[in-house]
Amino acid sequence: MSKHEFQTEVTQLLDLMIHSLYSNKEIFLRELISNASDALDKLNYLCISDDNFKNLNYDPKIEIVADKEAKTLTISDSGIGMSKEDLVKNLGTIAKSGTKSFVENLSGDAKKDSSLIGQFGVGFYAAFMVASKVEVLTKKAGESQAHTWMSEAGAQYDISESDKEGHGTTITLYLKEDEVEFLEFFRIQSIVEKYSNHIPFPIFMEKVEEKEEGKTEVSNEQINKASALWRLNKSEIKEDEYKDFYKSISHDSEDPILYSHTKAEGTIEYNTLFYIPKSAPMDLFRVDYQSGIKLYVKRVFITDDDKELLPTYLRFVRGVIDVEDLPLNVSREILQQNVILSKVKKASVKKILSELKKLKNKDFETYKSFYSVFGRVLKEGIMGEFDNRDLLLDLLLFKSSKNDELIDLEQYKAQMPEDQKEIYYIIGENAQMLKNSPLIEGFSEKGIEVLLLDDEVDTIVIPNIGQYKEIPMTAANSAKLESDETDTKALSEQYAEVLVKLKEDLKDDVKDVKISTRLKKSPTCLVYDKDDPDFAMQQMLKQMGQSDLPPIKPILEINAEHEIFTKILEKKDFVALSNLAPVLLDLAKLSEGMKIEDSTGFADRVNKLIVGSL
Ligand code: ADP
Ligand code: MG
Repeated sequence: MSKHEFQTEVTQLLDLMIHSLYSNKEIFLRELISNASDALDKLNYLCISDDNFKNLNYDPKIEIVADKEAKTLTISDSGIGMSKEDLVKNLGTIAKSGTKSFVENLSGDAKKDSSLIGQFGVGFYAAFMVASKVEVLTKKAGESQAHTWMSEAGAQYDISESDKEGHGTTITLYLKEDEVEFLEFFRIQSIVEKYSNHIPFPIFMEKVEEKEEGKTEVSNEQINKASALWRLNKSEIKEDEYKDFYKSISHDSEDPILYSHTKAEGTIEYNTLFYIPKSAPMDLFRVDYQSGIKLYVKRVFITDDDKELLPTYLRFVRGVIDVEDLPLNVSREILQQNVILSKVKKASVKKILSELKKLKNKDFETYKSFYSVFGRVLKEGIMGEFDNRDLLLDLLLFKSSKNDELIDLEQYKAQMPEDQKEIYYIIGENAQMLKNSPLIEGFSEKGIEVLLLDDEVDTIVIPNIGQYKEIPMTAANSAKLESDETDTKALSEQYAEVLVKLKEDLKDDVKDVKISTRLKKSPTCLVYDKDDPDFAMQQMLKQMGQSDLPPIKPILEINAEHEIFTKILEKKDFVALSNLAPVLLDLAKLSEGMKIEDSTGFADRVNKLIVGSL
């Protein structure tokens, strides 16, 4: 026998299992059955992909036995089993990177926390919620030596050599005193029905019935349907069965927002069953996120680790893809370039996006809550989704200068005045500030709606939209309103001297000084040339480490009707103007939410102006 230390995180986790997570203990069984099912899936795949295992004869199943005297519950599978090394790696450490953040993110709210279990590969350890001691007897397919792993939680576990007939794993739980309810046949049966009814393997449980005068009868009953739900006809499936199946594959305790089941029988035959979760998995924004899609070929599990099955911007989708017309022995690598699979993928993306659009039109409140959780991920698709571009764009929601409610592009388009040729947006830190920005005064006065974008990712993704249904999307702080040139010609001549003087005074900071058509109340604003990256974009590039970019100078626009400028024009006092120029520039920056570099200088100049006015 050898003694081993648990990785620190495991000890922490076990401690948590035992002391903090009281509610919903029954999910331990879901986790163990899910592992047994995975082990059968893996062996199935090995048999079709590896010649050495081609002739392996076994009965894929899961068996549960309750021993009321010994107070043990055992769960056995005829799956792939584990070697000694596997035991150390799988049941002594937490390999998955998301788990650390799991432990950090525990809220102390038992219900919430226990629903997180399983998302992070901590499933097995859930056994310690109900057991004081756990034994894992296992033999790996193709090997001759079996091993027993044993732990009573704490910091250590033991591994010893054992005897076992055939490959697979038997897990024995020594139940805690007050958890003996899990020895009851009907209790176990109802848990299995709830969480594991539609895993694709049969689960049997030993049923002991008292007959007359101390005689007992023992029978073995199958307690799940093992039907591979996604292959049944829609009419045969109840809504609850869809939801329960979701919980069994996602480890989520909440119902999904929606599900979509497709049985395609045309040129390509396949079944797909997709779910949209209510809340985000913890690894949603990690590069090493876990794919939520299981791929089957003719009901045989192939992989749950192929991130190419759906585009990354749909990585929150959970479900199953089962394809008929693929050879079973197709390797995972070849799958990536498979034509049939890429057609299934394409159809799936379209289906999922369409379902979301339906939801948006049918139940906007629910859609909004979906969008608040996954909208950001969805936006990533703007960069790469070309087949279903308009469909994807239709799913985006925006804050707006005119509407208090979020709106979509369809609605924006419908409300456009007839002579408006572009969709306008403005990007910044905070929608409320954007709404009051001098930059959109002119738009508001003309009754033109401006989309207000204040999500961090907007700077990168939104300019990539380019156009929506052939209407160009243009940033409000670079857009020229159409009448620009002609409208300002007379004023530009009138103000020629002032403009030249200001440009000279501010030549280090601005590219040009112009008469504005967009300003109605404020005296000044800063805009960027149509092709220059705007302020928000520059901030973004800086954060990405592009600090050596030459600074891109904005254009200062002035409001010729503002009292400041009418007075300057009247007095022609260019000395006063030179003193004012840097203040005007800084004020423009402040009103657009930018930082001013020399705040002491700014304060000095304003103080002088105050003194002068007294
Ligand atoms: P996950 O299932 O998310 O990987 P678990 O904590 O549930 O995380 O299980 C950890 C690992 O232990 C599994 O990935 C698997 O490699 C191994 N394992 C657990 N149960 C079994 C089993 N019945 N048969 C074979 N391997 C198992
Ligand atoms: Mg598991």
